[in-house]
Amino acid sequence: MKATRIEKIETFRVDRWCLLRIWCEDGTVGIGEAGVHGWPGPTQATLHAMEPYLKGKDPSLIEHHAQLLQRSSHFMGALISGAISAIDIALWDIKGKRLGVPVYELMGGKTRDRVRCYIHAHGDSLDDLVSDALQKKAAGFTAIRFSPFSADYHLHQSFESWASDAVQRVGAVHEALAGDVDLCIELHRQMNPAESVALAARLEPFHPYFYEDPMLPDSPALMGELQARCRLPIATGERLTSIFQFQELLASGGCDFIRPDLCLCMGLSGSKKAAALAEARHVKVIPHNPLSPVSTAACVQLDACIPNFALQEYTGESDYPKRDLVKAPLRLVGGYLEVPEGPGIGIEFNDEALMRLPATDIVPNMRIGVDGSVQDW
Ligand SMILES: [Mg+2]
Repeated sequence: MKATRIEKIETFRVDRWCLLRIWCEDGTVGIGEAGVHGWPGPTQATLHAMEPYLKGKDPSLIEHHAQLLQRSSHFMGALISGAISAIDIALWDIKGKRLGVPVYELMGGKTRDRVRCYIHAHGDSLDDLVSDALQKKAAGFTAIRFSPFSADYHLHQSFESWASDAVQRVGAVHEALAGDVDLCIELHRQMNPAESVALAARLEPFHPYFYEDPMLPDSPALMGELQARCRLPIATGERLTSIFQFQELLASGGCDFIRPDLCLCMGLSGSKKAAALAEARHVKVIPHNPLSPVSTAACVQLDACIPNFALQEYTGESDYPKRDLVKAPLRLVGGYLEVPEGPGIGIEFNDEALMRLPATDIVPNMRIGVDGSVQDW
């Protein structure tokens, strides 16, 4: 491979996404995304703070650049790891394009031809939730994720009414789907350990495939204590920023599935390392993917080359603005994403749309309970 250098970087704010494009002197272009979707503006600024280092560097030295950017002054956290993640994904895209192969070919080769996805079902009312879940099943999805809580959950005045409502919602979806779809229960950090253990016991008859973020993910050790008290398989890790945090989570026995976010946990490189840590414990991987088609494309490259893949989060890409962002989205066939054959991460930006699509302003916001206290989303 002939040598080239990084010429410039460009960043774009679209929706709540922070997107990156890296240009090389030989004309190769790589794309990436940073996953700190609560703080896209500061993440964009972090990427530009890294730009003077990147200019003129050899794009093939992916691990070296991540090491230098992470260890330079060694501040840690989501803004830094999110920015490095976007760079990592873009540099893998460049390497794949320059060699004319998909990234998974450079990471061990394919372990599967297609990637099983789970999709979200929504509905504040029971009827709306069940109806949406049935539509997703009819579209071919064999795993469906939903919240057991309605939008006004924070207004319940007793735990009993809150939990009973949740049990009713999960039970209704379970009955409607007739036992041949995996239920993925997303708690969104809305309970504390005692509450989520009590709810888990009441949800056991519906045997969910996973029970996601049953508490604030501040402490891997506490998640381990929770999993020891809870008979549902916990899935967590979407806010972790390093393999060191995943190591502590796995060592604590804090989950049965890890949820690395490729746009947050040091990119394809960091997430593949986290997947290997999980593999050594027979823990499977469900990459977190609430963002743009760039995140989806990177996830599929990882899913395609690890042995312990379980499911891929997929939120659909046929609606505005996702449908406009890329020239050709990945192919979805019956609840599975096809592993693409194209070079790099397998997608290209639609330049015209990239310039036109607006950013969404993000303002810190939380639900407020009946007593005036802050409640989690
Ligand atoms: Mg989640």
